[in-house]
Amino acid sequence: MSIAEAHVAHNYHPLPVVIAEGEGAWVTDVEGKRYLDMLSGYSALNFGHRHPEIVQAAQDQLGRLTLTSRAFHNDQLGPFADALAELCGKDLVLPMNTGAEAVETGIKVARAWGYRVKGIPAGEAEIIVALGNFHGRTTTIVGFSDDPTARDDFGPYAPGFVAVPYGDADAIEAAITPNTAAILIEPIQGEGGVIIPADGYLRRIRDLATARNVLFIADEIQSGLGRVGTTFACDREGVVPDMYLLGKALGGGILPVSAVAADEDVLGVIRPGEHGSTFGGNPLAAAVGRKVVELLQTGRFQERSAQLGEHLRTRLEALEGITGFRQVGLWAGVDVDPSHGTGREVAERLMARGVLAKDTHGQTVRLAPPLVVRATELDWALEQLQLAIRG
Ligand code: PLP
Repeated sequence: MSIAEAHVAHNYHPLPVVIAEGEGAWVTDVEGKRYLDMLSGYSALNFGHRHPEIVQAAQDQLGRLTLTSRAFHNDQLGPFADALAELCGKDLVLPMNTGAEAVETGIKVARAWGYRVKGIPAGEAEIIVALGNFHGRTTTIVGFSDDPTARDDFGPYAPGFVAVPYGDADAIEAAITPNTAAILIEPIQGEGGVIIPADGYLRRIRDLATARNVLFIADEIQSGLGRVGTTFACDREGVVPDMYLLGKALGGGILPVSAVAADEDVLGVIRPGEHGSTFGGNPLAAAVGRKVVELLQTGRFQERSAQLGEHLRTRLEALEGITGFRQVGLWAGVDVDPSHGTGREVAERLMARGVLAKDTHGQTVRLAPPLVVRATELDWALEQLQLAIRG
């Protein structure tokens, strides 16, 4: 711990645990103490630590070819893109690495579409975003965040973004102008504290986008790929956005893999040389991503998340010492009653009891176990949470 504290920049405030090994829903620290992982790398570990089939896919690929750059074709990217496009029901996929890169890509594609297809005057494109959003840490993205910690002192900020209250489709409607290229939202706000909009919100956005010739971009980087009991959070309302932004679990908990998925009339606006990434679409990432898509195509993980999510809800309803909770699938934001301490204090007490979770925005403890967690493990984790809240 002290080595890390001495030489790693202080851009995080980790819980005081040093993890050395992981398997399934469990990790072990350097002293041999085991913890149930109830954070899953912010949903990057939906399939658990070192899922055997994903590890095997990575190992097989490590023995063949790892990196080519997009200057040449590699034999893994095509099959990955094909499978992911099918999972998304879209024509095309643009592979990147991190979530923030997928968001930046989505913004570029939306602007290019706005100028080249919709006919927005040069340099005038606007994108509507939601207050309370979290889309990543790059300079453009933090510029349209309203979280002072994420934003302050990192300006000047890129223009062209209009923020409206989350969950308010009327506000989106009122913000649309002839220069609006896209509406960019998280179907469920993750970092915001697992904020679930009222039923009908995504449907209204879909209808507005279609009626007003605006793209609907769903940032499913944290909400997608099984977390909420369906493949995408948009599926809960039977809604298909114009663009999916994917990341986190797409890399199977092994390496960063992100992507934008959209139809030819949208993603097709990007021409050779206009966008790219040295590592995006590399054969190792593509082999891992393809295995992830294959696992999702079985529907098993979505089903588990839906079923165990019901179980989790019952447990959360019985929890004392909280002021509320929001839950969908295996994802929950639990608001700790301040008389029992802050979210951080509860997360620290929980850690001492062998469960790893993370606070967000002061009083909220976020729970997002790997989708391979067992019902009995969830029960145990929730018992520990109850004890940790009591102090
Ligand atoms: N979008 C959403 C909804 C996220 O939750 C995150 C990360 O938490 C990102 C984008 C950024 O992803 P990354 O940290 O891989 O850049």
